[in-house]
Amino acid sequence: MATPAQARVDLAAIRHNVALLKERAGGAELMGAVKADAYGHGLVPAAEAVIEAGASRLGTAFVREALELRAGGVTAPILSWLITPGEPLDEALDADIELSASDTGLLGEIEAAARRTGRTARLHLEADTGMSRGGSPLAAWQGLLDGALKLQAEGVVEIVGLWSHFACADIPGHPSIEQQQEAYRTALKLAERAGAAGSHVIRHLANSAATVTLPEARYDLVRPGIAMYGLSPIPELGDFGLRPAMTLVAQAGLVKRVPEGSGVSYAHLYVTDRETTLGLVPLGYADGILRHATGRAEVLAGGRRRLIAGRVCMDQFMIDLGDDALSAGDEVVLFGPGDGGEPTVQEWADNLGTITHEIVTRIGSRVPRVYEHRRSQSTGTSRRA
Ligand SMILES: *Cc1c(COP(=O)(O)O)cnc(C)c1O
Repeated sequence: MATPAQARVDLAAIRHNVALLKERAGGAELMGAVKADAYGHGLVPAAEAVIEAGASRLGTAFVREALELRAGGVTAPILSWLITPGEPLDEALDADIELSASDTGLLGEIEAAARRTGRTARLHLEADTGMSRGGSPLAAWQGLLDGALKLQAEGVVEIVGLWSHFACADIPGHPSIEQQQEAYRTALKLAERAGAAGSHVIRHLANSAATVTLPEARYDLVRPGIAMYGLSPIPELGDFGLRPAMTLVAQAGLVKRVPEGSGVSYAHLYVTDRETTLGLVPLGYADGILRHATGRAEVLAGGRRRLIAGRVCMDQFMIDLGDDALSAGDEVVLFGPGDGGEPTVQEWADNLGTITHEIVTRIGSRVPRVYEHRRSQSTGTSRRA
């Protein structure tokens, strides 16, 4: 290992997961959510694997993420769904990025960009069916449809998608799931009546959790994210046959003997209760190892699980090895698929009271992503790798 730590990304696992989700999707298309650097896995290499495994489209939150995909040579259709004032819409249209709109104000900005560039903006209209985050409230939906249709008649925009997002698809049986589907059906009906739901218009609603549990929510396309990276969207229901793609490893730094009663790291939250061996692991909260992991998360070192001993620092933390041997340079595994006895991302999330999405997306830019089982020979490499 040329660097003190690395995140190994198994692209074959991503391909396996995408193929499995594609099967779950029935005949629906699959749009792979690759926002946030493909959930920390490295944008372009992960996106390539997703496409190779059968996804026909990609989705990002921000336009700049979509532009990064284009710069990396990715040619698949891309939708960016989180558009805020000042986003580079001209560049987006020039790069053939599809855009989501939730209100007439944003529609106006997209219209202006389309007129400036002379390109027809391909639009996905988002309905708020009950998450109260992005999306047009149903009360304003008709106005948004009318505005978009007027621009469509001029050739300024083309409505290509009608979509929404679940708030609680990962909580099976939550009453909002059926309520949101009902609201989505209403939004679609209004769009049909208005003439905005032609047969080429893609209807999409399902994230990972809905893809694996709600066949009726698949419509024309599913939009999984977390499951593609092998992390269960509903851990209580098992792993759905998914394979975790990321393994986070570090080389042990300093290994040393210390006497009983040694206070370890900031604030001396951990004090050795015997003479023991401490090992330094060169990853810290600047790399996404939450300070909250202090005394909570485990790593695999020298063949055994060890709790993080004392405060996680910015660049490093300590583990207590007892009388076990470990040498500087030996590999410490923070998490992985679990095959070798290492903790999983799911365990980290459980121990830290969060979800797996947060663990993998926080792995920082100092940690190079190293790709295993790469198939494509594209020159596109992750900016952050
Ligand atoms: C993140 C996101 C997804 C994917 O969600 P997962 O829970 O990771 O499957 C799908 N659609 C939208 C709009 C998102 O923001």
